[in-house]
Amino acid sequence: MAQKPRECRAEVAAIRWPRPEVIEVDLRMVEPPDFVFEAGQWISVPFGPKVVRAWTILSSPTRRRTITLSVDVVPAGLGSQWLRALKVGDPVEFKGPTGGFVFNRADPRRAVFVAEEIGIVPVRAILADLYETGYGRPTILIYWARDPSWLLYDGEFRSLARRYPGFTYVPAVREAPAAWRGETGEAAGAVDRLVHSVDKLVVYVCGGGDTIDAVRNALVKKGMDRKSVKWEKFW
Ligand SMILES: Cc1cc2nc3c(=O)[nH]c(=O)nc-3n(C[C@H](O)[C@H](O)[C@H](O)COP(=O)(O)OP(=O)(O)OC[C@H]3O[C@@H](n4cnc5c(N)ncnc54)[C@H](O)[C@@H]3O)c2cc1C
Repeated sequence: MAQKPRECRAEVAAIRWPRPEVIEVDLRMVEPPDFVFEAGQWISVPFGPKVVRAWTILSSPTRRRTITLSVDVVPAGLGSQWLRALKVGDPVEFKGPTGGFVFNRADPRRAVFVAEEIGIVPVRAILADLYETGYGRPTILIYWARDPSWLLYDGEFRSLARRYPGFTYVPAVREAPAAWRGETGEAAGAVDRLVHSVDKLVVYVCGGGDTIDAVRNALVKKGMDRKSVKWEKFW
């Protein structure tokens, strides 16, 4: 059942840098001790009376005591600076869970996920949840990045594809090294080439507004209903 957002307290349990521009922060819950949320939802951290930053939960909802955020801190704004300064043990207050970019298991349509770089965060949470809790239906992830080093959690998706024949992982990059075996170009081009039929299809796309628009336009051109393209705009 959907949870109402509430004021929460946590403390920083661990910090990792999967690449120099991306920080992962584990938040151990204090109040409530168990944080109930749906995969794909986000939390908001306040920075003033009307200033907040939203970050999506990377970890699966099966892990309620410690949640993980994964953030691209290149924008260097208020939120990025605050994250860079965090230390293990620091208290963190936030409000959540919020957001409707969640997967509907009762939906009989085939699902395609499209993510742009750090936009993988809700998709990673949704896929982790689906496969941890048993999901046998065919699903495709088209994951775009400027180059292969920005395909965060790539190893995890490759492993998922090896273990679950119904899961197809297609990485796509703009700058491909010579040995690259995957799609090249932009995200919308990959979607255009890989999605042959939009019949009984639902697409979840997350990343920047330009990519969301381009992906949606490519699908609408194939006859897809705009409402069947669900999106979460990070920037
Ligand atoms: C619902 C929601 C969920 C989000 N979840 C995440 C998440 O899980 N991880 C994450 O890294 N970000 C996420 N974001 C973006 C996040 O809220 C911040 O905008 C981001 O962390 C930068 O914060 P900032 O204060 O440093 O810079 P801001 O002042 O917020 O941003 C400065 C500028 O950079 C743009 N920008 C923000 N992020 C990026 C980016 N990755 N690449 C290019 N430009 C960008 C902003 O649109 C703005 O123009 C989410 C946004 C929304 C609305």
